[in-house]
Amino acid sequence: MGIETRFAYESFRPGQKELAQRVYEACLDGDILIAEAMSGFGKTAAVLSGALSAAEETGCRVVYACRTKRQINRVVEETSRLQGRHPFKAAYALSKFDYCLLRRRREIPPESFGWYCTFNVSNNLCSYFLNVTLSEDFDRLVSRALLRVPRHAELLRESERAHVCPYEVARLAMAQATFAVVPYQYVFDPKAAPVLFDRNAIDRRKTILVVDEAHNMREFFRGLNSAVITLEQVKGAAREARAMLMEEAAGSISALQRTLEQVMAERQGWLIDRASVLERFRKDHGTAWLQNLAFELSASSGAAWGSIVYERKLPSLILRVGEFLSRLSSSGRSVLVKWDDAFGLVDPDPVSGLGGCLAEFRSSVLLSATVNPSSVFARSLGLEPGRAETYEASAEPLVTVRTAVDTGTSTRYKLRTPEMYAKIADRVAAVVRSTRSGVGVFAPSYSVLGALFEMVSERVSDRRLVSEAPGLSSEQAEEVFDSFRSAEDSVLFAVQGGRFSEGEDFDGGAMGSVAVVGLALPPPSPMMYAEYACLKRAGEQDSYLMLSRLPALRRAFQAAGRHVRSPGKRGLVFFFDERFGSTAARELMPSWLRRDLTVGDFTPSAIDSFSRGFWSSCG
Ligand code: SF4
Repeated sequence: MGIETRFAYESFRPGQKELAQRVYEACLDGDILIAEAMSGFGKTAAVLSGALSAAEETGCRVVYACRTKRQINRVVEETSRLQGRHPFKAAYALSKFDYCLLRRRREIPPESFGWYCTFNVSNNLCSYFLNVTLSEDFDRLVSRALLRVPRHAELLRESERAHVCPYEVARLAMAQATFAVVPYQYVFDPKAAPVLFDRNAIDRRKTILVVDEAHNMREFFRGLNSAVITLEQVKGAAREARAMLMEEAAGSISALQRTLEQVMAERQGWLIDRASVLERFRKDHGTAWLQNLAFELSASSGAAWGSIVYERKLPSLILRVGEFLSRLSSSGRSVLVKWDDAFGLVDPDPVSGLGGCLAEFRSSVLLSATVNPSSVFARSLGLEPGRAETYEASAEPLVTVRTAVDTGTSTRYKLRTPEMYAKIADRVAAVVRSTRSGVGVFAPSYSVLGALFEMVSERVSDRRLVSEAPGLSSEQAEEVFDSFRSAEDSVLFAVQGGRFSEGEDFDGGAMGSVAVVGLALPPPSPMMYAEYACLKRAGEQDSYLMLSRLPALRRAFQAAGRHVRSPGKRGLVFFFDERFGSTAARELMPSWLRRDLTVGDFTPSAIDSFSRGFWSSCG
């Protein structure tokens, strides 16, 4: 079946067919392709038609990896649409935590969940799991799910009715599907990837991999390959152990705490000689003491029985310390760093294995809306020069966006005075007042977001203002989203790089203008220093651009593109920070943001005339 027939819609938008064709060719040729397409381009549908056509011809399957649940849902929607036109076997998976029916009987923190499930399954305490091999409904559920990907709530309902674990339904469906949508973890996390590949005998060489929002991969690997523990958490773990009557473990954790406190006090600077710390444990407590303690805390069997029998809270800090010690005592190349009262184990080259990992697949397509400059993008993922092809999907005439960069404001740390906050709030309020439809305001951090929300609320009283908050559950985020959509002229405050600024769709005229406030540079940290040092040793000239500036600019550009979701869209983008006006920043902007760009001191009255001029020109 060709890419036209494979396409989920009646016709292609400009640029989509070319992208589908390029993906198709790359998949046939076994290439690694970096494909850039702006927000609202419709790249998912285009990539699906190209990748699925190539998969059919080569007898491969397609695995589509996404960073967030919302991105998975978006791809699943496209899959459903495509299944409506041509039947094919598809499946998706979220994290096991999202499926568990057993945990609904008690509150389980996500960090303890893996242990909770393993414990219940291995001790025959989960009837949903036991029923998987007994229930006749199980196979029927899997077959049905494959031919029409079910909504998550529907799968949970059906599985509850059949009294089987919905995760097992999803897992078996994935094993049989020719197209599977999964979180990054199922592809790149050595602990989770066997669930998809090894346990289902899925051969990577017969798999086409698509990675959505690939600019997030370095950050993902950084998180995957690092661990942090604070002295407060070590103390908390000792308390948990005592409460669980694990006296011996509590004593060992206290000894661990004393040693870590000494190391913290003795060592100057952020880098700690890991070998000497391990030697110290060996000298003080014996050769295998640390490994044994790590194993005991990670397995936590004493605590497990205690928490089940006495219906106590599960010991999350014990598990956390156990995980940290496992990594500390393993032979990995992580370096040990410290700051404040925290210790971190950091892989200074978090993407070192990525090139090899991608090479195991038949072909890989890395998608992003912000690839520029592609050579730095490829190097930031550890891909050697010439290893990946780059394709930029052109869709410029699709949208009309006018961009303003305000040089009169900045969120540079030293400039964050009450006067500067007031100035920014005045200007954001002017954007809101001069935009009749919805507005998105994206701040560099939650602290700036909170202050800005309060100050703009004082200035704009006749509009619905809603704000993201740290640590929102999916349900709470949905409420914020619904509240924003409940009025046509609402204002959404969110952070750059957060759940509302990437992968969220603001269809139609839901958002007419976007105000991007400040540059979200990652705060300097020993974790970053370790990566900088590693890149410097490797002779990388663009390490600051790669690790700090580019990720911050990408977050800003992604946020700026939130309102551009479909062809013909018109909108305004304001960047409130003089740093966006530099030549280097402008060169890195996607072309649709650069095409109609004005740089200047945008006072509230200048914003008003700029906005009104634009909207009146739109008719
Ligand atoms: S097997 Fe399924 S239902 Fe049982 S504990 Fe694990 S995830 Fe929950």
